[in-house]
Amino acid sequence: LAVATARQTFENSAWSRMKPVERERLLWRFADLIEANAQSLAELECLDNGKTVAVAGAVDIQLAINFLRYMAGWATKIEGSTVEASVPFIPDAQFHGYTRREPVGVVGAIVAWNFPLLLACWKLAPALATGCTVVLKPAEDTPLTALRLGELALEAGYPPGVLNVVPGLGHDAGAALSSHPDVDKLTFTGSTGVGKLIGKAAMEHMTRVTLELGGKSPTIVLEDADPQVAAQGAANAIFFNQGQVCCAGSRLYVHRKLFDNLVADISGIAEGIKIGNGLDPLTEMGPMVSSAQQKRVHGYIEQGRSEGAQVATGGDAFGPGFFMKPTVLVDVNQQSSVVREEIFGPVLVAMPFDNIDEVVRMANDSPYGLGASIWSNNLSEVHRLIPRIKSGSVWVNCHTALDPTLPFGGFKQSGLGREMGSACIEHYTELKSVLMNV
Ligand code: NAD
Repeated sequence: LAVATARQTFENSAWSRMKPVERERLLWRFADLIEANAQSLAELECLDNGKTVAVAGAVDIQLAINFLRYMAGWATKIEGSTVEASVPFIPDAQFHGYTRREPVGVVGAIVAWNFPLLLACWKLAPALATGCTVVLKPAEDTPLTALRLGELALEAGYPPGVLNVVPGLGHDAGAALSSHPDVDKLTFTGSTGVGKLIGKAAMEHMTRVTLELGGKSPTIVLEDADPQVAAQGAANAIFFNQGQVCCAGSRLYVHRKLFDNLVADISGIAEGIKIGNGLDPLTEMGPMVSSAQQKRVHGYIEQGRSEGAQVATGGDAFGPGFFMKPTVLVDVNQQSSVVREEIFGPVLVAMPFDNIDEVVRMANDSPYGLGASIWSNNLSEVHRLIPRIKSGSVWVNCHTALDPTLPFGGFKQSGLGREMGSACIEHYTELKSVLMNV
């Protein structure tokens, strides 16, 4: 029903005839309404996901607003190009050739639970800027802000049928959406395993598909880095949002000269983090999203221990609630499961290196390639290192610093395509070539 409604609205409605400038105005209104409701949206996100209200407000909601406004500007700037054609077998003809970008159509959007509203807006903003219609399936653990977004979209003035929100289980609502023959494009954020299923389902009908998947991102601290800045940065890179961040700096590589002190400093920072109820303004880290996620994270720590890892700090799950102590593991190697697999919790694995070639090899030795950060004040070294890192984003002296202007997405098994930046427009449009014999 949702896909049929989205189809009907895309093909024949006030929306399908709407001018770009109107789409721009609507996106601004939508962003303004999210801003006006920021506090209640942040509280909903906290209740649903466990993250703190402070993080939800300052990060999730604010980044979503910025991105909606950024994409609003693009609604009036979607361009093709004119070309000079020389078709050889029609020698005397004069041609007018051009390309145009047209909305891809009905978009099926499936998102994860770690940034529920923000991930939805990463998909809604380009879809609505380009004139598509959307069926959005939020994660089963966190449907509340998606449903509220649907209400706010109507309040902003979007015609009914432009945004359709269908909560449900992955293997049920998600699978139905990803295998639906009348969906023109699928956009997915979630695990690499489910991403592969969605990619396969998409190919059955040649549905366009973009995938934002998992990661195991390296934080690389070079010999000359400021140790205090690097320690705080590396701690933030992994512990932000309870470590439930696709591009979390979950593998730490530190020059051997700095290694012991840096691990001690990060452990000290971890022990000082105030864990508790996300509604409490003094809380710095909330619980895991669910009991299952708490068990999964704790299970990884136990597995790491059984493979010989030492716990520098943390290691425990505790309740009531689904809490995890921020954890640092040492004495691990590149083959350890805790180094290879995405834990998706506040668990850092730390390893020393001796030279740049070695750290490049270790950093790239992963099926993932989403993000990486380099901590250093040696500009030449940093510039030489950036092209050698196989990941979609590289941050220098910061980590998980996201901005609407910069495309975000993965190399290797971290995904296909990009979100944000003007690059995302091509994923929500089809390119049509026109050649007129005039
Ligand atoms: P998940 O893959 O289990 O679920 C994501 C979404 O897919 C949910 O809405 C779920 O209901 C749905 N789903 C599950 N099975 C499905 C199926 N068979 N068919 C269709 N849909 C299905 O992931 P998760 O545990 O919710 O999220 C964590 C993962 O998301 C991590 O791997 C993380 O790295 C990744 N992630 C990536 C990004 C990014 O931008 N690259 C951002 C956030 C999270």
